[in-house]
Amino acid sequence: MPICDVCSKPLDRSEMKILSGSRISGVTARGFVPRNLGAHSAMKGLGSLFGAPARSDKDTWKFIVSQNSSTDWGLCADCAVELESY
Ligand SMILES: [Zn+2]
Repeated sequence: MPICDVCSKPLDRSEMKILSGSRISGVTARGFVPRNLGAHSAMKGLGSLFGAPARSDKDTWKFIVSQNSSTDWGLCADCAVELESY
């Protein structure tokens, strides 16, 4: 089952909203940090996977966005609405 790339919530493929990495890096450059970042699993753990255990959520998020700015992201409705309304 696919999961939301932001909050890791399990999704039906039909529920997934596809947003481009450039769109996400655009709002992130303006200061966007998702409220639900890693709410359902270990986005925080990703920081340590990438060798950055001491990063804050915000820094971890910015790093992940920078690494994935040229791929499409699959988001749940909640995260997509939050991002699109930023
Ligand atoms: Zn989500």
